Amino acid sequence: MGVNGGRCDVAVVGAGLVGLSLAYELACLGADVTVVDAAHRGRATDAGAGILSPATSHETDAELWPFLRQAGRHYPALLARLEADGAETAPANYGVCGILSLGLQAHEDEWFAPFADVVLRRAPDEVAEITPEEAGSLFPPLGPVHRVLHAPSAARVDGRGMAAALRQAAAARGATFVTAGAVGITSGSSPSGPATRRADALRLDRHPPLACEAVAVAGGAWTATVGEWFGCTLPVGPTKGQIVHLGTEFDTGRWPIAQPLMTHYLVPWPGGRVACGGTFETGAGYSTAVTVAGLHELLRECLAVAPGLLEARHLETRVGLRPTSADDRAIVGRLPGWGNAWVATGHGANGLLQGPCSARALAYAIAGEELPGDETPLPRLFQPARFG
Ligand SMILES: Cc1cc2nc3c(=O)[nH]c(=O)nc-3n(C[C@H](O)[C@H](O)[C@H](O)COP(=O)(O)OP(=O)(O)OC[C@H]3O[C@@H](n4cnc5c(N)ncnc54)[C@H](O)[C@@H]3O)c2cc1C
Repeated sequence: MGVNGGRCDVAVVGAGLVGLSLAYELACLGADVTVVDAAHRGRATDAGAGILSPATSHETDAELWPFLRQAGRHYPALLARLEADGAETAPANYGVCGILSLGLQAHEDEWFAPFADVVLRRAPDEVAEITPEEAGSLFPPLGPVHRVLHAPSAARVDGRGMAAALRQAAAARGATFVTAGAVGITSGSSPSGPATRRADALRLDRHPPLACEAVAVAGGAWTATVGEWFGCTLPVGPTKGQIVHLGTEFDTGRWPIAQPLMTHYLVPWPGGRVACGGTFETGAGYSTAVTVAGLHELLRECLAVAPGLLEARHLETRVGLRPTSADDRAIVGRLPGWGNAWVATGHGANGLLQGPCSARALAYAIAGEELPGDETPLPRLFQPARFG
C-alpha cells in the first residue's frame, strides 16, 4: 500500500524496536499495517547497550517482576518466529552470556546489601554470590571488586540487528513502510458514544493523510508532542546516552556483562568488542553530539572498573535518546477518551528488554484478542490514563 489515498488497519508511528515489534505482532495477527518513520537522528534502539537481565533488575515494585521475566523469556521465542518468517537474525547477536553485578568498594555495601537481598530473594535459582577471584576469571580485565553477584541467565542483544530482523519479518508478513514524519491526526466521534473519540487518519508531512482504523504511536523520545494531537498528557522526553565501543584482542565471546551498581557497565560482544556505557544526560534535549565530556566520563569510569582494557582501540561512539517518562515507567495502552488510539513509549533505559514484550501485549489489545494464557499481561503501572 502506498500513502497516496492509502488506507490501512493500523498506522504505527515510529520504527524503533517498539514500533517494529508492534508492527510485526499486528501483522502476525492478520492486520494490514503501515509503519511511518521520520528517521530522526538519535533513535535509542541504535545505541542501546543490549543488557537483558530481569533477574538483576533494580525494579523494586513486585507488580512488574512477572512482566520482566516474561520479557526476558520472550526473546528466544521471538527470534525463532522471526527466523521462521525468513528474517536474518544473526546481526541481532543475541546470546545468553550472564551478568556480574558488582560492588566495587566496601562503602558501597550500604546499597549493595539491600540490592543483593532483593535479587537473591526474587530469583534464588538464577543468582548467586561469587568471590572476586571467580569474577576475575570470568571477566579477565576486571580490577579490584568487593562483592559480586553472578546471574548466568542474563543475555545481550544488538538493538540495530534486532530492529532490522523485525522489519524484515514484518515486511514478509505484509507490513508497509513509509519514510515521513507524522504531524497529527484527523478525528471524529465514535459510534459507541460521544465520550469516546476516534482517529480517522494520520496526518503526514509532505504526504497526503493516511486513513486508518487505528493509530498506535511508538515514537520513542519524540512522543513528547503527541499528547497534543489527542488532548491528553504524555510526559515523555529524551535522556541522552553516549556509549563507547572498544576493540580488543581478547576472546570476548564468552565474557559476562560487568555491571557495577554505582557506575558504568561493560557489555562484551563476540570478536573482541566491548561496549562501555552509558552517559545519562537529562538536560541535553535532542542533541546527538558525541562530547568530550561524555567520552571522558565513559573511559574514566570503565577503565576504573576494568583496567585490563587500557590497550583497547576506540571503534565508535553511539548516541541515543532514551524515551523517559515522568515516573520512569513505560506508557503502553489505549489513550484515555479514545476508542482507537494507542501508545507505546517511555521504556527509558529498559526498552530493549521490555519493548518487544510490551508491543506484543499491545498488539493483542489493538486486535481485540486475548493474549495466550501463559503470557503476562501489560502491567497496570503502564496505563497511559495515569497521567490524565
Ligand atoms: C546508551 C543507551 C543504552 C541503553 N541500554 C539499554 C540496555 O542495556 N537494555 C535495555 O533494555 N534498554 C537499553 N536502552 C534503552 C532502549 O534502547 C530504548 O528504551 C528503546 O530502544 C526505545 O525504543 P523505541 O522504539 O521506543 O524508541 P526509538 O528507538 O528511539 O525509536 C523511535 C522512532 O520513532 C520515530 N518517530 C518519532 N516521532 C515520529 C513522528 N512524529 N513521525 C514519524 N516517526 C517518528 C523516530 O524517528 C525513531 O525512529 C539504552 C538506550 C541508550 C540510549
